[in-house]
Amino acid sequence: MSYQRIQGKLARGETVLLDGGIGTEILRRGVYWRCHGIEQHPEAVRQVHLDYLAARADVIKTDTFQLNRRAYLNLFHGLEHMYRIGPPGLENKAARLTRQAVELAREARRAAGKDSNGVAIAGVISPLEHSFRPDLAPAEEVARREHPEIVEEMKSAGVDFILFESMNTIREARAAAEAARAAGLPVWVSFVVRENAKLLGGEPVADAARALEGLGVDVVLVNCAPIEDITAALGKLRKARSGPVGAYAHIGRYDPPSWKFGFYPRFSGTEAVTPEKYLEAALEWKKTGAQVIGGCCGTAPEHIRLLGEKL
Ligand SMILES: [Zn+2]
Repeated sequence: MSYQRIQGKLARGETVLLDGGIGTEILRRGVYWRCHGIEQHPEAVRQVHLDYLAARADVIKTDTFQLNRRAYLNLFHGLEHMYRIGPPGLENKAARLTRQAVELAREARRAAGKDSNGVAIAGVISPLEHSFRPDLAPAEEVARREHPEIVEEMKSAGVDFILFESMNTIREARAAAEAARAAGLPVWVSFVVRENAKLLGGEPVADAARALEGLGVDVVLVNCAPIEDITAALGKLRKARSGPVGAYAHIGRYDPPSWKFGFYPRFSGTEAVTPEKYLEAALEWKKTGAQVIGGCCGTAPEHIRLLGEKL
């Protein structure tokens, strides 16, 4: 039912408001990033969802970016090594955190009284390897084996649809989208882009959009890049695809090793992306034809609130 409302908005040509940054917002509130904040500070995660719901987001994303079995396994020499030196149950930790993350989003929606008016929960699934490292992207058969597992976890936990976020190769995006459709869930696919309307791995955004035609993907988006790169990519995406498209940019700067983005109050002058400045970009995206608009890393509820008022 929640997703039907979103579908209706899309069909009528209306704008669907996505929420903003989750992980970066949790960090901004002083929560240590261990386990996405889910185990130690579930109340903080829930509160971020509540704040986006209060900002009138139509869709809230789960706090599950880059949360998969492989992310833990990659820290070991292999499964045997993980069993030998890791804590018991580590191989199932990603699945457990995923279920908890979905439950936090559902609790927030219930608490906000938005179950019945159809706010949808997007189960966020990332590339199997680091989203900024398309060179590490898995072979197609690996993607076809592992994405369905994560999709099933999301489905049984109760998401309304799957958002594949920050996908960086056409190969993995296709395999992922097919996994969600096979599970009977609606699916959106968002690509992380660089300058000149290319995916981070160098494939043109237009090719990526065309490669998803016929796979039953409801919305194709571009995300997790500076505003000007998102604007350029969205233009090409709009021309290459007949169905709905969307956009959400990040603001600030990535400060490795963890996801520490600068936030707009800490930047000054031209680097500060205030809610007003972000709105200007969003209005341009809307003019270009974006029907789904929200925020990526570094954006906060105040950005989404202003979009909710003005879009
Ligand atoms: Zn991002």
